Amino acid sequence: MTTYLIVGNGVAGNSAAETIRKVDPAGKILIFSREKYHFYYTPALPEYLGGVKQVKDFIIHDALWYEKNRIELFLGTEIAQIDSQKKIALTPKGAKFSYDQLLLACGGKSFVPPIPGASSPGVFTLRTVEDADAIRKKLQGASKAVVIGGGLLGLEAGNGLRKAGLEVSVVEFFPRLLPRQTDVVGAALLQRQMEEMGFHFYLGKKTQEIAPALGGLRVILEGGPELFAHLVLISAGVRPELTLARALNLAVDKGIKVDDHMLTGLKGVYAAGDLVEHRGRFYGIWPASMEQGRVAGANMAGQERTYAGTVPSNSLKVVGIDLLAAGELDAEGKMESVTVKDEARKVYRKLVLKDHCIVGAMLLGDTRGKDEIQRAIQSKKDVSPWEKDLANEKFDFSKLK
Ligand SMILES: Cc1cc2nc3c(=O)[nH]c(=O)nc-3n(C[C@H](O)[C@H](O)[C@H](O)COP(=O)(O)OP(=O)(O)OC[C@H]3O[C@@H](n4cnc5c(N)ncnc54)[C@H](O)[C@@H]3O)c2cc1C
Repeated sequence: MTTYLIVGNGVAGNSAAETIRKVDPAGKILIFSREKYHFYYTPALPEYLGGVKQVKDFIIHDALWYEKNRIELFLGTEIAQIDSQKKIALTPKGAKFSYDQLLLACGGKSFVPPIPGASSPGVFTLRTVEDADAIRKKLQGASKAVVIGGGLLGLEAGNGLRKAGLEVSVVEFFPRLLPRQTDVVGAALLQRQMEEMGFHFYLGKKTQEIAPALGGLRVILEGGPELFAHLVLISAGVRPELTLARALNLAVDKGIKVDDHMLTGLKGVYAAGDLVEHRGRFYGIWPASMEQGRVAGANMAGQERTYAGTVPSNSLKVVGIDLLAAGELDAEGKMESVTVKDEARKVYRKLVLKDHCIVGAMLLGDTRGKDEIQRAIQSKKDVSPWEKDLANEKFDFSKLK
């Protein structure tokens, strides 16, 4: 009987375990997690911050699921060391677990830029329920928040804080919001919409320092102004959790280097999720972690499967704003594209084309056709007969099937 040991109880670890169980009904599966919660939907954390959801609303696999699938889950249990020669994983207290196949699915951690004062009390990041709980505790009596980072997660978390009753200012280093998901036109439209909701934006601004102030913190921006906040949330991206990978001497660049089978350079050691680099690319998104986990699980259990990459796709989960961004957005306008803009309806639709295929899409305010468009990007469908009409929301998108 094969023993599969998985470090990490996120989407990568769980989809791997689920696949292993399908391929190998008899194998022994162990999952370890530093966290005390069962597997949950991380993208729901901003709504948890805003009090819209409770943890039980976004738990994906409860205790019963692990029991039914005969998976031994060790919550609140860190794997501190791995002996890849003897094939043993150890906890900090020295408990030993042997394995035949190992999956590193340790995910990522929030990146904190080297801003003086970034480790002060009242400054937070958001990656886990525990992080969200710490922020929620701070909400009592707070009325002003500053979010450093105007990416998707920063805007969603900012919206959570706004829902919790705080006045929210967002500081972004780039001169526009969602620098990775929008172009200048789309970002300006989105900004106007969010300002109407009550957000304040400081774009093209670098945070110089976070300093103490009476009853809160001062966020000092280079060249001014200074913003007062009861709490500061830093949302500046994710970095892979590489502690175990480094101890195992695995090849690492943007993440652990894996091949198309999600195998690292070490026999029997696989990796998937927010800690890997595949074909030179680090994803940091849910669907990629899920697919990588499935591929890793299948191969670990002896069924050959390959991962060919994921077309990145993101939506902004802020009620009242529909936004989908997928694939190559061509923010600099160097590629061929078709656009529709309607200021009055706050609609902007842009499709980026290359060699008669859709390679990217930004749909703001009206996301009609989003599923068909995403499928066309994925399948590299030839769209030459309809190129000019594609951005129009009234186009018959069934033609893309
Ligand atoms: C607030 C937020 C919103 C997001 N929104 C979106 C979204 O809208 N769309 C999208 O596609 N993606 C989104 N993401 C990203 C997405 O959630 C991640 O890509 C995904 O969760 C990564 O899954 P994972 O399994 O690789 O890692 P994680 O979910 O980070 O899980 C890693 C697990 O490993 C455990 N672990 C790590 N080291 C050890 C160790 N040594 N011993 C034991 N356990 C260990 C951790 O405790 C954890 O359980 C969001 C992320 C955040 C934080």
